[in-house]
Amino acid sequence: VRRNPGETEFFQAVDEIFATLDPVMERHPEYVEHGILRRMVEPERQIIFRVPWVDDKGVVKINRGFRVEFNSALGPYKGGIRFHPSVYLGIMKFLGFEQIFKNALTGMPIGGAKGGADFNPAGRSEGEIMRFCQSFMTELYRHIGEHTDVPAGDIGVGTREIGFMFGQYRRITNRFEAGVLTGKGVSWGGSLVRPEATGHGTVMFVNQMLKTKNTSLDGATVAVSGSGNVAINAIDYAQTLGATVLTASDSSGYVIDEHGIDIELLRQIKSVERGRISEYANRRDCAHFVADGSIWDVPVDVALPCATQNELTGDDAATLVKNGVKAVAEGANMPSTHSAITTFREAGVLFGPGKAANAGGVATSALEMQQNASRDTWSFDYTHSRLEETMEEIHDRCIATAEDFGYPGDYVTGANIAGFLKVADAMIAQGIV
Ligand code: NDP
Repeated sequence: VRRNPGETEFFQAVDEIFATLDPVMERHPEYVEHGILRRMVEPERQIIFRVPWVDDKGVVKINRGFRVEFNSALGPYKGGIRFHPSVYLGIMKFLGFEQIFKNALTGMPIGGAKGGADFNPAGRSEGEIMRFCQSFMTELYRHIGEHTDVPAGDIGVGTREIGFMFGQYRRITNRFEAGVLTGKGVSWGGSLVRPEATGHGTVMFVNQMLKTKNTSLDGATVAVSGSGNVAINAIDYAQTLGATVLTASDSSGYVIDEHGIDIELLRQIKSVERGRISEYANRRDCAHFVADGSIWDVPVDVALPCATQNELTGDDAATLVKNGVKAVAEGANMPSTHSAITTFREAGVLFGPGKAANAGGVATSALEMQQNASRDTWSFDYTHSRLEETMEEIHDRCIATAEDFGYPGDYVTGANIAGFLKVADAMIAQGIV
């Protein structure tokens, strides 16, 4: 705590993982001897930099940029870039720390990292976004590379922003190095399915969980929070599999649509017009907008938090349980507070933690890296089936590990231990570095 003052979210992420590792330490005392836990919580490298840019009125603006290169024992650092006003070192470190274990869980050869800036893209013109991305990359480029560190998108960073950053990287280095970033457009080195991957993967994961109880999403009611990349694709795929998704949200409130979210309308408002969620209710008679209150008050069979950290509290979890929720899977990173997770586990609700349930995004980024390395382009169906296989493997890995360590059916323990073992073993094999 003294070394990382005020980094609340980072402490939360570390506590959440370490609280499940006692059975591992009992079975493997060598991890203690090698100081594995103390080494893991210290990032290999943290870069903090000034991002100067000029807005449309000619005013000079300064933001703070970050890249936390946390652990590269399994492969090049890999993790998204977030542009949001709430970004500070504690958020970068929580996300980077989670990413280590998530990436290990995918079975792909990738380390863990995260980056971003306290820049607020809301209301900024395309020109301002481009200038910001260019300035951000003007520093970041010296720290990344296809064998070193491969960033991707996250909150506030989609294909448009990746494009501006990739263009600047290419200009500075005079290299078309496709493997340096993932989430690229398909015509310039991107992978089909990458935009859909996190949302689809989360839905695949929850369906796997439901399958263990001989049920499925078909006919289920679902609440999804958020209306960004992850949420929209989760809504779309859940409805493809026969569910009715009743909600979507953004930071201004949420909408309820009794007939199921009209995905085309939602995409038009949020992705094309970049408008607010209330606009959805304005344009659809069977929907209404709620500015105050919790989206988790809506009674559903399945809840998929897909917006941001700590958006689902202990009280929300208690309401969901009271209303009969059967399964919860985290599309976002750490959306459930510690007390929410405890409530779900005690109530016997199927609970898929983010590092397993939303790993489809980074897994497909790793597939994008494979395509870049082989200068190949895979079809949508092939890539989608690889994503599906990966989500099944992650699911089964969580179940098998939880069982092996005496916690059958506990996805939190299974995901944490399976990810941890892989990273710890690689760190020990590579010596004290
Ligand atoms: P987007 O920027 O596309 O969308 C974020 C959504 O969450 C928006 O609807 C946004 O609303 C809402 N949101 C953000 N912050 C808040 C807040 N403080 N309160 C309420 N709503 C908020 O991001 P993504 O969809 O890419 O990411 C969503 C989550 O999924 C994040 O936790 C991210 O780390 C995680 N994730 C993303 C992956 C990816 O592939 N993109 C991979 C794995 C995890 P508003 O527009 O009002 O801000």
